[in-house]
Amino acid sequence: MKTESSTTPAADPDVIIVGAGSAGIAAARHLLAHGLTVTILEARDRIGGRTLTRSFKGHPLDLGAHWLHAGPINPLVKLGRVRREPLRRAPVDGHFFVRGRPGRPAESAALDRAFAMADRAMTQAAKAREDQAAARALPPMGPQGRRVAAIHGLVSGRPLDEVSLHDFPSMEYADNLFIAGGLGAYVRRLARGLPIRLGVIVRSINWSAEGVRVESSAGTMRGKAVVVTTPMAVLQQDTIRFAPALPNAVQEAIHGFTQGVYEHVVLHWPDSPFRGADRLASLTGRHREPPGLLTRIDNTPFHFFELDQPIAASFDRRDAHAPHRYARMVLAEHFGHQAIRNLSALHSTAWRNDPWSRASWAVVPPGLSAVRDALKAPVGEMIWFAGEALSRAQWGTAGGAWEEGERAAGEILAKLTGPRSGG
Ligand SMILES: Cc1cc2nc3c(=O)[nH]c(=O)nc-3n(C[C@H](O)[C@H](O)[C@H](O)COP(=O)(O)OP(=O)(O)OC[C@H]3O[C@@H](n4cnc5c(N)ncnc54)[C@H](O)[C@@H]3O)c2cc1C
Repeated sequence: MKTESSTTPAADPDVIIVGAGSAGIAAARHLLAHGLTVTILEARDRIGGRTLTRSFKGHPLDLGAHWLHAGPINPLVKLGRVRREPLRRAPVDGHFFVRGRPGRPAESAALDRAFAMADRAMTQAAKAREDQAAARALPPMGPQGRRVAAIHGLVSGRPLDEVSLHDFPSMEYADNLFIAGGLGAYVRRLARGLPIRLGVIVRSINWSAEGVRVESSAGTMRGKAVVVTTPMAVLQQDTIRFAPALPNAVQEAIHGFTQGVYEHVVLHWPDSPFRGADRLASLTGRHREPPGLLTRIDNTPFHFFELDQPIAASFDRRDAHAPHRYARMVLAEHFGHQAIRNLSALHSTAWRNDPWSRASWAVVPPGLSAVRDALKAPVGEMIWFAGEALSRAQWGTAGGAWEEGERAAGEILAKLTGPRSGG
């Protein structure tokens, strides 16, 4: 067990936090700022959870979250501005290619129109109809419609016929930013000085008496409250035993989510046909179309070839190079073998197979749009759930996880120190 902090973790703190990802870090900062003692227990030997920046050929690249979505409401953007972090706006314009040649303005405008039509249709249907699969709200739009559905499926984490219509349009996506040096590195900076114990696996939470008793691979710890930020897909594996068992409604909510899958294949491609920094590229007109491609990240020769759930599920998990071969095959199909001669695929992520994430984020299936809110009420006034899965407008994001960590912390403060201290 390692300790990653300048502050010694309290033996029996006021609040125990499970997980040193965005939600756990946000909760800890908020509680400490208001005078409570906290200890974060983190299973991995690193901080950041599903944010992680690694260096490739000397360039920092995010292997988890990379975009700061929904700038105007994202707490990580607000905090970044206060701290004078190196934020930059994500370009709005992207690349559009048809069978390997730049698309004509009319072709690109048709895709933009299809997006606008789909968004309008889903937003209206979400207000007017019972919950159902988001795909059912899409009007017929031909090949453009398939492209729109594929991109929305990628950012949802599942194909739209597996996503709740009421949940999908609740997400805010506009006004995106990036941060120089990587989002993972930024989240790690925000954890500086926090009392975190790394390599400690929480195995059970006992809330049968006043206060909680948390059993972990490093022994027993007692606190007045616990914040559980463990990803839903990990909780579904019963990695943490609750005694007494969680109320049925809470268990049903946890098991209601499905696993959202979104993975990066890191490409080094100095001769790629894409100019400008940080632009999304839409490649159409061939049999296989990449659902997402982020080009020349931070103006480097690095690109992310994104894998959606159906593509990722088609790979044999024992074959670590299958995503690399797939990315090369698709790009060769669009641009020819000559064009990819200096392309190397350096890494592909596998968050879906990682025991501490088991997914990229939690997805709400059709008919279960109430599950996010069902987890917000504390259990026995002692157990608070937090993390990306609980956020209504920023689900599946680091900003949403941060928001939920702060919400849980605010509620705990109000309970432990009185309503006026909870702000
Ligand atoms: C490839 C990829 C791309 C993404 N892109 C974006 C993006 O561009 N923008 C964006 O905002 N979001 C993106 N996301 C989503 C974002 O990363 C997550 O929503 C966010 O980081 C989740 O934060 P969290 O605190 O809820 O959970 P986590 O970051 O997963 O933190 C939970 C922590 O709990 C720990 N833990 C679990 N079980 C235990 C246990 N029993 N005991 C102790 N510790 C435990 C885990 O190790 C983990 O560190 C992406 C995710 C992936 C995988």
